[in-house]
Amino acid sequence: MTENLFDLMIVGTGPAGLTASIYAQRLGLKTVVFGDVPGGNCYMIEQLMNYPGFIGGTTGVQWGVAAFAQAQGEGGTFPMTRLVKLSHREGQFVGLDVNSQEYVSNAALLACGVVPRTLEVPNIDKEGVFFCSLCDGPLFRGKDATLAVIGGGNMAAQETLSLSNFAKKVIIVYRGDRLKAEAVIQKAIDAKDNIEVLLKCKVVALSGEDRIDGIVVSDEAGTEKVIPVHGVFMAVGWVPNVDLIEFFVETVPEGYIKTNEKLMTSVPGLFAAGDVRDTDIRQVITACADGARAATYVLEFLQGRDR
Ligand SMILES: Cc1cc2nc3c(=O)[nH]c(=O)nc-3n(C[C@H](O)[C@H](O)[C@H](O)COP(=O)(O)OP(=O)(O)OC[C@H]3O[C@@H](n4cnc5c(N)ncnc54)[C@H](O)[C@@H]3O)c2cc1C
Repeated sequence: MTENLFDLMIVGTGPAGLTASIYAQRLGLKTVVFGDVPGGNCYMIEQLMNYPGFIGGTTGVQWGVAAFAQAQGEGGTFPMTRLVKLSHREGQFVGLDVNSQEYVSNAALLACGVVPRTLEVPNIDKEGVFFCSLCDGPLFRGKDATLAVIGGGNMAAQETLSLSNFAKKVIIVYRGDRLKAEAVIQKAIDAKDNIEVLLKCKVVALSGEDRIDGIVVSDEAGTEKVIPVHGVFMAVGWVPNVDLIEFFVETVPEGYIKTNEKLMTSVPGLFAAGDVRDTDIRQVITACADGARAATYVLEFLQGRDR
């Protein structure tokens, strides 16, 4: 049992979890880090923007793999599995992984990020619905495909731009009266002649038998029409990854975890960092900053408890 007793259990190998792990090691904490994707959601970033130090940029995959190697190089235990359950017993945290192996710690850090939200419309579970242009966009290379992106924020706009490189046409459908993308991204969209922006419309269903062959859109007057497409990419927001938590932790109504100024949650010894936290900016750099701060405050917490 003692070999599975840690100072800190980190859930997530994204920017927040990996940075926390690097700091925790250097602070002398015995740490275990769960997660099976080096770099977390960075694998979806085609070109990592807004992160200092990379003139001309880098890909999310390159960044994630390097950060993972750096974290492993500092030490700590990386079982490369996911946690199925996190419970809280007598002031300690108990994680159960997919191999039914138990791990116990005196503090825990939720750095488990978010998963894409989906639309509750007919046929959403059919083949041809995707959540990541970088992962699945290349399927349509050279296929003369028309693709739809649903959503109107930065992510939807970025997905649209990325897909426009290999689709014949990309239609971005948004219920608002203008896209909510950064000015630079909006400008890039305007400059592409194979992108159509369909505003003030919502997607009410997907059509197709075995596979999606169209989207059904409804305008403000409620008039519906079917637009034929070969694939649909969802970009309608995110849901925090909190299903594993078996005990009460305070969240905001959208499910993001509330923390205090030291990133501790409503449960003593349980911290949260990165996208899963109730925060205003969800980027790699802010997740890393959260990870660094959380590990530091974990040490303060454990020292206060005399470990
Ligand atoms: C398409 C796209 C483009 C983006 N572009 C940029 C950009 O250009 N610049 C930028 O700064 N940011 C960008 N972002 C945002 C950035 O990816 C996130 O803000 C960042 O990855 C958040 O880091 P995180 O560590 O909080 O969470 P994540 O990166 O989401 O990592 C969390 C990890 O925890 C794992 N996990 C969840 N539950 C469990 C469990 N039970 N057990 C074990 N592991 C678990 C998840 O699988 C995931 O691997 C982009 C995101 C997307 C989707």
